[in-house]
Amino acid sequence: MSKSKSSESVKVVVRCRPMNEKERAAGFQRMVSVDVKLGQILVRNPRETSANEHPKVFTFDSVYDWNSKQIDLYDETFRPLVDSVLLGFNGTIFAYGQTGTGKTYTMEGVRNDPERRGVIPNSFEHVFTHISRSQNQQYLVRASYLEIYQEEIRDLLSKDQSRRLELRERPDTGVYVKDLSSFVTKSVREIEHVMNVGNQNRSVGATNMNEHSSRSHAIFVITVECSELGVDGENHIRVGKLNLVDLAGSERQTKTGAQGERLKEATKINLSLSALGNVISALVDGRSSHIPYRDSKLTRLLQDSLGGNARTVMVANIGPASYNVEETLTTLRYANRAKNIKNKPRINEDPKDALLREFQEEIARLKDQLEKRVGKKKKRRQRKRAGEGSDGEDLEDGETEDDEEEGDDKGDYWREQQEKLEKERKAIMEDHSLVAEEKTRLLREKEKKMEDLRREKEAGEMLSAKVKAMESKLLVGGKNIVDHTNEQQRMLEQKRHEIAEQKRREREMQQQMESRDEETLELKETYSSLQQEVDIKTKKLKKLFSKLQAVKAEIQDIQGEHIKERQEYEQTQNELTRDLKLKHLIIENFIPLEEKNKIVNRAFFDDEEECWKLKPITRIEDDHQMMSKPLSAVGYRRPLSHHARMAMMMRPDMRYKAENILMLDMDLPGRTTKEYQEPVIAPKVAAALEDALRDEDEIHVDASGFHSSLGPTPPASASSSLKKPKSGRPRTGKKSSTPTSPFSPSSPGSPLYPQSRGLVPK
Ligand code: ADP
Ligand code: MG
Repeated sequence: MSKSKSSESVKVVVRCRPMNEKERAAGFQRMVSVDVKLGQILVRNPRETSANEHPKVFTFDSVYDWNSKQIDLYDETFRPLVDSVLLGFNGTIFAYGQTGTGKTYTMEGVRNDPERRGVIPNSFEHVFTHISRSQNQQYLVRASYLEIYQEEIRDLLSKDQSRRLELRERPDTGVYVKDLSSFVTKSVREIEHVMNVGNQNRSVGATNMNEHSSRSHAIFVITVECSELGVDGENHIRVGKLNLVDLAGSERQTKTGAQGERLKEATKINLSLSALGNVISALVDGRSSHIPYRDSKLTRLLQDSLGGNARTVMVANIGPASYNVEETLTTLRYANRAKNIKNKPRINEDPKDALLREFQEEIARLKDQLEKRVGKKKKRRQRKRAGEGSDGEDLEDGETEDDEEEGDDKGDYWREQQEKLEKERKAIMEDHSLVAEEKTRLLREKEKKMEDLRREKEAGEMLSAKVKAMESKLLVGGKNIVDHTNEQQRMLEQKRHEIAEQKRREREMQQQMESRDEETLELKETYSSLQQEVDIKTKKLKKLFSKLQAVKAEIQDIQGEHIKERQEYEQTQNELTRDLKLKHLIIENFIPLEEKNKIVNRAFFDDEEECWKLKPITRIEDDHQMMSKPLSAVGYRRPLSHHARMAMMMRPDMRYKAENILMLDMDLPGRTTKEYQEPVIAPKVAAALEDALRDEDEIHVDASGFHSSLGPTPPASASSSLKKPKSGRPRTGKKSSTPTSPFSPSSPGSPLYPQSRGLVPK
């Protein structure tokens, strides 16, 4: 991993939006002036209208006034950052400021207007143009889009918008969002589509889009992976990640009068933003060793961008009108602090989680598979050519392969085989010497072979399609390099870049001169007269005095702000304490100690999700205290008073049947079987059967007697019992209820029928 040890500051730029129609109509004064050349913002105090007012001055890397063009901002401020992302650095662009000052305008802008589109669409163009101009490099571009609202992370690209995602941390790759969807995009159009889908999802969940967007943070992430052959002959992968962050409005959320849930909501809404402020303060302060990244989802997720190994640009957006002055000053102070954050940018080379590497390996594996198929086929074809005439032999082994590279060849081969099979099929059909059965068998065989052939072909095609699909995701440049317009565009960009660079240097020099002015003035001057010395020194004194005044005023302002902030915190704290006290009161007075202890025992702190949770009851089976019933409820499901117990026993009064109000009988399952019913045999048939089965020597022919005794009784059941003497099972039902039947073996008096053989129980 290549490291550059040098650290660099977070770049902070300020942009002031124009007065809008409403403000102009209402006649608001403009309190902000912008010195683009010097990189300074001057804010007048609306309360001090006299001539001796001292505007507050803030100096930044660069500043943009209401006439600034999106493309200028991009070329001067964002382009270098995106360039370094393409080199494998991580980069982050924050838009910070009060609601309605142009954060979204700066980040997204007006999408369909090339003049007014913001950083995000411009960076799409930039990234894909860069790729198309590259040579001997392979790229993979992915996009994700998420939103943080009330400390919950929502994936704006997922189908299920109700799902909330969690942050996870791995020692090798750092903090990441678990299950965040990311889409591989191959062109500007595709990535724009991803952004549009996310934007639509962003507004879907919100009842009031304006309020929602002013309270939520949207982060668009572009990951660019680039693979290039290094000097060592190995492929090296660099991964750059660009976070484009549209922060929630920085204005204070009103907490006054909020209680309970609403208070919780109000404190949560800007938790990420105040945590961001605390992180910045801690980083700049230099004294604190602990940086509270873990205090919010936003700071955890963007930890790298603040004092880490990423490059960061912060755009502070402000409004010019007088009623905004207070928020404008807060924003400028915030931005002023952020200037002093130091990052140590580093290229991410060959990280473990590079998707590009996985893609390359998968493609290689698939190609290898294809290669093998081709190899087999070639061998077979050679064999075939050698032994011309032994037609059909090759097919017998069932290896019909096709080929990716030899497209035509493949088609020919496939057609050839099919034609041959078809011909053979016809021959079989026309061959009259074959028996019909033999014919169908052969036909079926041929058909099966054709089917196999087709399936093989399909499998091969699928494999090569897969390779193609995967390869198409990897972007390679070098195609448009001779394109004339492209070349011109490149030149234009180069020039713009140069101009931006020059402007920057000019500004820096001016700023330096300004700051040196006061220091060196005295040293350079040699005074010709005492009066001159007095004049010059008076002038200098005045200058320094006004500066002193400005600093004093600033100190006062900051102190005032601190006091206000502290009061607000105190108020919140008081409200929370009151809430806590109420809960304590309820617990102390209404919840038995035992129950409280149970809950306390079950509670544990989840480090991953950073919140308290309750262990499920089933896990603490060994905890007898948890499982046993309260003593007052022996035999009952819940404790009962003595009176209730007595009343329950004495009267059938529902009032005290808390245990089982309905008093239902036991619910027995219904029967699922049926009684056995013997099949009914017609009397004539039964008689005939009986006759036929009788032993010959047992036949006593007495036609008249037989007739008369057989006539009146239907012998169906009786005869069967006679015929099946071997079944030793006692029968239930009708049969056993007719033991006095004349056919029953137990009637010994009958001269007509044989005696039982002893198997049927008597
Ligand atoms: P935010 O996202 O900070 O709440 P928006 O980006 O929605 O604010 O801006 C509010 C309005 O101001 C929009 O209508 C936007 O078009 C306009 N606006 C902001 N900045 C500029 C600018 N630099 N030039 C022209 N219009 C702007
Ligand atoms: Mg916005």
